[in-house]
Amino acid sequence: MTTTPPLRNDDRSRAAYAEGAGIYRIVPAAATIPRTVAEVQEVVRWAATTGTPLVARGNGSGMPGGNVGHGVIVDLSQGFSDLVVDGERRTARAGAAVTWARLSEAAYGVGLRLPPDPSSGAFASCGGMVATNAAGPRSLRFGSVRRWVEAVEIVGTDGEVRTVRRGGGGGERFSIAADGRRLIAQRFPRTRKNSSGYALDAFTASGDELDLLIGSEGTLAIVTAVEWRLDPLPPSVAGAALGLPDLAALGEAVSHLVALDPSAVELFDRTFLARVQPSVPGALACLLLVEFERETAQAARGVVGDAVRGLRHLTASVDTGFDGAGLAQLWAVRRLASPALARLPETQRSLQVVEDGCVPLARLGDYVAGLSSAAQRRGVPLVIFGHAGDGHVHANALPDTTRAGWHETLAGLLEEVTGLLVQLGGTPSGEHGDGRLRAGLLERFYGPAVLAQFRDVKRAYDPRGVLNPGVILPAADWAPLAELKVGADAAAIPEDIAARLRDTERNAAWGVPKLELAKADTPNPAPDT
Ligand SMILES: Cc1cc2nc3c(=O)[nH]c(=O)nc-3n(C[C@H](O)[C@H](O)[C@H](O)COP(=O)(O)OP(=O)(O)OC[C@H]3O[C@@H](n4cnc5c(N)ncnc54)[C@H](O)[C@@H]3O)c2cc1C
Repeated sequence: MTTTPPLRNDDRSRAAYAEGAGIYRIVPAAATIPRTVAEVQEVVRWAATTGTPLVARGNGSGMPGGNVGHGVIVDLSQGFSDLVVDGERRTARAGAAVTWARLSEAAYGVGLRLPPDPSSGAFASCGGMVATNAAGPRSLRFGSVRRWVEAVEIVGTDGEVRTVRRGGGGGERFSIAADGRRLIAQRFPRTRKNSSGYALDAFTASGDELDLLIGSEGTLAIVTAVEWRLDPLPPSVAGAALGLPDLAALGEAVSHLVALDPSAVELFDRTFLARVQPSVPGALACLLLVEFERETAQAARGVVGDAVRGLRHLTASVDTGFDGAGLAQLWAVRRLASPALARLPETQRSLQVVEDGCVPLARLGDYVAGLSSAAQRRGVPLVIFGHAGDGHVHANALPDTTRAGWHETLAGLLEEVTGLLVQLGGTPSGEHGDGRLRAGLLERFYGPAVLAQFRDVKRAYDPRGVLNPGVILPAADWAPLAELKVGADAAAIPEDIAARLRDTERNAAWGVPKLELAKADTPNPAPDT
């Protein structure tokens, strides 16, 4: 017998969960807030019995709409906060709600860190990071979180709790024949990062079920805890910000920097700089931020010198940072990115529609040029920034949503950029996942036979399709630009809650409990620290 879990299905609570980061507003049927593993089991058993769709959710900062839906939101951000760091074993066991920032603070105390560092670390939860195979600037050297997950504790659709470990196999739940393996080898993109589809490439390489679960965006199981492998803090770090007057030099500049084994190579284009840091000279086409970790301060300083000298013929400005304060100043521009874009006026909304493409490094220049020209031809400003060293950039479109035709313009942009990514051998998602936005694009990247394998994975774990339907695998009526949070067709929700959701985005206050937003007397969310 199953018990109905406590559901918050009043209009105000439902509205508070209607948006995440990204473009969508979808009012759920209800939200439930389990605080223990047993309560998650109860929710999942009830959903499996009643056929109720469940949307697992951490802090809601995910971009492509995996954290919103018409079903019942399972808010894991309010329990699941245990954290134990084991300095000797260099591991940490963290509840699903623990943020990267909290984990890092505890790890730093014993000289350790989780090297992949999402820029959203202040609020990205361990559950959300594993579910999206999150990454960050330093993934250039340390990969996405996949490499650092030792184990996950999950609740499957049968309601059972299991711990799935690295090296533990478990692939018998879903197996792939030899020709299936060949197909995967042919069809998976040869990019440095990929958070799109189920990671059949990693799974065939390791035989570990864990690789199917990492990046599965709440569609195969609910993660209640994560065991992380940690790494020692780097002895010495130094970096530089290099201004390029010509975007055509991007490919050469990035290749030069990547050959020096940096920990990060980040790009900020002119449109980004004009909005985020107007003090940067307008003649620059872009800024490249490079950082190196080395065993000694001398070695770190030396390699920065090599980077600067090697690019002298391409750069118009150079700033360097050799200590904590200098580096913090270089990185300030990165931290301002998303909040600055969210703070644009109502006539120019930042919409993450073509936002997470990643291409083989050698094609980065072509991708950035193609993105810019696709946007320019449509008269939509496009802000380009992100992880150039991985061939991976974010692109936020800034349409004037008060003008007729903006919706069609965005649809055209999505179509053209998808074609460009396919042509360049890229993936539509380097780190944010597919969500609802990209689900219907996957067949163009992977082909029908790999997509059939994705469907087999889903069936093996979630035969009744209750876990996040429409995410990774498209719903029958997939419409990537429907149910948006902007425009006349946006779902009606109470005005005060809509304003708080807007401030959540503006202030990147994703850590504020969502039910706070539903209370009539709550002040609007202030920035997370
Ligand atoms: C300003 C800003 C900067 C960002 N920078 C980065 C960045 O540098 N790198 C990066 O990778 N991402 C970045 N993101 C995206 C986002 O922060 C990450 O995807 C993050 O890992 C999501 O965590 P969350 O707790 O907010 O998850 P949510 O948004 O709540 O959920 C994201 C997805 O994970 C699933 N999920 C969440 N928790 C669980 C769980 N316990 N079990 C199963 N499934 C679950 C959800 O169903 C959903 O599909 C950024 C976002 C913002 C707003």
